[in-house]
Amino acid sequence: MTKSHIAFFGLGLMGSGMAQRLLAGGYRLTVFNRSVRKTDALAAQGAQVATSPREAASHADVVVSMVADDEASNRIWLGEEGALSGIRPGTVCIECSTVTVDWARKLGAAVAAGGGEFLDAPVTGSKAQAAAGELNFLVGGAADTLEKARPVLAAMSKSIVSLGPVGSGAFFKLINNFVCGVQVAALAEAIGLIERGGLDPAKAVDLLKGGAAGSPLVHTVAARMMASDFTPNFLLKLMAKDLRYAIQESRKLSVDLATAEAALADFQDSIAARDGDKDIAALVEQFRRKG
Ligand code: NAP
Repeated sequence: MTKSHIAFFGLGLMGSGMAQRLLAGGYRLTVFNRSVRKTDALAAQGAQVATSPREAASHADVVVSMVADDEASNRIWLGEEGALSGIRPGTVCIECSTVTVDWARKLGAAVAAGGGEFLDAPVTGSKAQAAAGELNFLVGGAADTLEKARPVLAAMSKSIVSLGPVGSGAFFKLINNFVCGVQVAALAEAIGLIERGGLDPAKAVDLLKGGAAGSPLVHTVAARMMASDFTPNFLLKLMAKDLRYAIQESRKLSVDLATAEAALADFQDSIAARDGDKDIAALVEQFRRKG
């Protein structure tokens, strides 16, 4: 059986790995990225390169987007030469970017009005898991649409979890990342305190990692903070975006995310210090500088 033709938008840290897994899975793939040079590696591996989302979507059975935020998603799907102006009836449209619930719902409605089917399917896992096809998809949308999309998502993932109607994936992802953002902020502050207070940093951080505070995220990010290795895996400015979106969501539900607000203030300080395009681990730098 011929495999689906996929259009893929957004070849950043996550999207480039995800698109490679689709090629490796034998899918026919057309890619679009705002900065054309990021399409070179995929083109060399056999992907078609489109000059607009519309052109890419016009050949596709399944359309996948992995871009920065609501604004980028809006441009890709609904902008000039956007994907929705090119889809055919029945095309499955999947938004994997971390976006707001409102935007996921608006986009879902626009896709349905255009004759397509929509899933919001943000992911957990980072650059390495994207490249290895080991992401976890958090899916909102109709069960039958998910069944159509499942083989495509499976080529990029180790798990696919259905959470409810359109918007549910986006909602859970923001909750997940608010908890992650708070952990990264607490860890950055703790390392600042350890270093300033004269403890042996390696010994103290190992104790944190080995104890109750040692979540998988703390393990990974602590290693980068200790090595001052800020090579981007997850951009600091995008975690700030996730915290902002989570706070926005919580206000609608009258839940006070005080810890997210405090973490966001730390992230904003790092962005003001020009660390926004570094890895989230660079959050620690402000606590090394301050004082
Ligand atoms: P990234 O490396 O910064 O890539 C962002 C992508 O979005 C690039 O392709 C970029 O195009 C595109 N983009 C940004 N603004 C745009 C606009 N206005 N119009 C069109 N395209 C635009 O980010 P990433 O780490 O791959 O993250 C992608 C999404 O996954 C984000 O929503 C992020 O929150 C989420 N996420 C990231 C991780 C992680 O660990 N990195 C994990 C889970 C989820 P250019 O190349 O032209 O800039």
